[in-house]
Order: sequence, then structure tokens, then C-alpha cells
Amino acid sequence: MELDDVRDDLTDVLISKEQIAGKIGELARRIERDYDDQRPLLVGVLKGAVMVMADLARELRIHIDMDWMAVSSYGAGTKSSGVVRILKDLDTDLTGRHVLIVEDIIDSGLTLSWLLQNLERRGAASVRICALLRKPDAAKVDVHVEYLGFDIPNEFVVGYGLDYAERYRNLKGVAVLAPHVYE
Ligand code: 5GP
Ligand code: MG
Ligand code: MG
Repeated sequence: MELDDVRDDLTDVLISKEQIAGKIGELARRIERDYDDQRPLLVGVLKGAVMVMADLARELRIHIDMDWMAVSSYGAGTKSSGVVRILKDLDTDLTGRHVLIVEDIIDSGLTLSWLLQNLERRGAASVRICALLRKPDAAKVDVHVEYLGFDIPNEFVVGYGLDYAERYRNLKGVAVLAPHVYE
């Protein structure tokens, strides 16, 4: 779905599909260089990261594995609860693996800092983070993101995997959701 298809539900358009594609290409080149023949395990965080994962994985010209986790931290609303629960765990043994967590967005950072620790404790050789978006002004904990797409303002955004009440995930770009949609 194009941003224009739901333009009335959006205020600012932040990132176009072209900008996303360009950035994912850049990140892929760095990741290829850094991991080379280490065959990293890309761990996507459901459901928001599906688009980033699908595009990033296809851009990478090295062998990778892919696995998925589902964690809950938000529910249907627009505020982080800070409570993280595993809804679906990995199928892969992490012992000795180079793990790259693939995320849609870092807001408070609470989910990712929890996930980082959780995966490190499983014996991975390394755990790094790739996130398409980050809201620097919303940070409650400091999380180091090795591969970052864009810093964005502290507003609730949708598109490219990010939902509001399960809608808008299939938008090709990223935009700020108009308050009239959720108020
Ligand atoms: P955090 O724990 O960093 O606060 O964010 C956890 C999760 O909340 C993110 O991975 C993402 O799925 C969701 N989230 C955070 N900010 C936004 C946002 O602006 N829009 C949407 N749709 N989801 C968000
Ligand atoms: Mg996410
Ligand atoms: Mg959500």
C-alpha cells in the first residue's frame, strides 16, 4: 500500500520507500563486510521487523540463517509498558553463533536491551543490533545499535512493518499517524 492510499490517516511522511531501499542497501554492504563468511544468524522480532528482514536478507550477498522471535511489550496501544514476555522463542541453538537482531524501531529501548541480554546468555559468540528506526528522544535505556537506518522524532509512526492495532504494516513508507485515528 502506498502512503497516498491512506494519506488522511497520516500527518508527516517521514521516510519514502526509495529512502528505505537506499538505506537497506547501505546497511547490507556494511553487514556483508563485517560478517563475511561467518554465516550470521539474523533474528527478526515479530511482527514489526518482517519488512526490514525480508528486504535486508535479500540484499545480503553472503550466507545467513534466519530465525524469529515474538515478544510483547506494547499490546494494541501506543505506549511502551517495559514488560517483556516471550510469545514465540527461537528454534536455533545460539552456542557460538554470530547473532544479528533485526528490529523495526527502537523507542524506549527497553525491549531491545532485554532481548540483547537474553540472547547473550545463550552462549552466542556475538550479538549485535540492526534497526531501521530509532527515536533518540524516547530513550529510557542506552542500547548500542551497530547498524542504524534513521533517527526520527519522538512520535508514533506506522508503515513498513509498524502497525497501529495491526493496521498500516503494509505501507511502503514510514509516516506519523494522525492523532484522530487513535484519539
Ligand atoms: P521499545 O521497547 O523500544 O519502547 O519499543 C518496543 C516496540 O514497540 C518496537 O519494537 C515496536 O514494535 C513498538 N513501537 C515503538 N515505537 C513505535 C511507533 O512509533 N510505532 C509503532 N507502530 N510501534 C512502535
Ligand atoms: Mg519491534
Ligand atoms: Mg505494534
